Amino acid sequence: MIMSHDAPKSWTPMVLFTPGSYLKTRRTAQLLTLQDVAARIPTIPRDAEHDLIAWLERIEADLVPASITTIDALHSAYRFDRSVLAALAAIARGERDPIHTPRICRICACTWRQPCTYDRQACAWVEGQDLCTACETAPANSEAA
Ligand SMILES: [Zn+2]
Ligand SMILES: [Zn+2]
Repeated sequence: MIMSHDAPKSWTPMVLFTPGSYLKTRRTAQLLTLQDVAARIPTIPRDAEHDLIAWLERIEADLVPASITTIDALHSAYRFDRSVLAALAAIARGERDPIHTPRICRICACTWRQPCTYDRQACAWVEGQDLCTACETAPANSEAA
C-alpha cells in the first residue's frame, strides 16, 4: 500500500469503502432500513421487480454494480454524495488510483461536500483520521433529526 503523508487534506490513501459499503453506511447513518429505502423508491428498476429488498442487499454487498438509474432511485430515498460513489466505483473497476479515494468518515460515511450536522454545525475532520467530529462526539453515530 502506498502511504503518503503529504496527500491533500480532502483525500486519503486508505481504501475503506467500496461502492456498496458506502451506500450501506450512508443508509444506516440515516437510520433507514432496507425496507424504508424500498418504500421510498418511486420506480422499481426492471431487473428487480421480483424482490426489491434482495436487490438492494446485492448492491450493498457489491454483487451487482449500481446503474445510473439505480443511483437516481437511491438518491431520491436518502442522502449520499454521487461524486464519492462514482469515485469508489471507478476504484473498484480499477480505473482510478486508490490514492484518490475520497476522504470518508469511517463511521457515518459523511464527506466534505455532505457533512452531517450536530448542534446546528457542520462536522469537521478529526485530525489525522477518517473520522468526523460528529461521530467522535457521538459514538452511537445518530444523526440529529
Ligand atoms: Zn461521521
Ligand atoms: Zn460527519
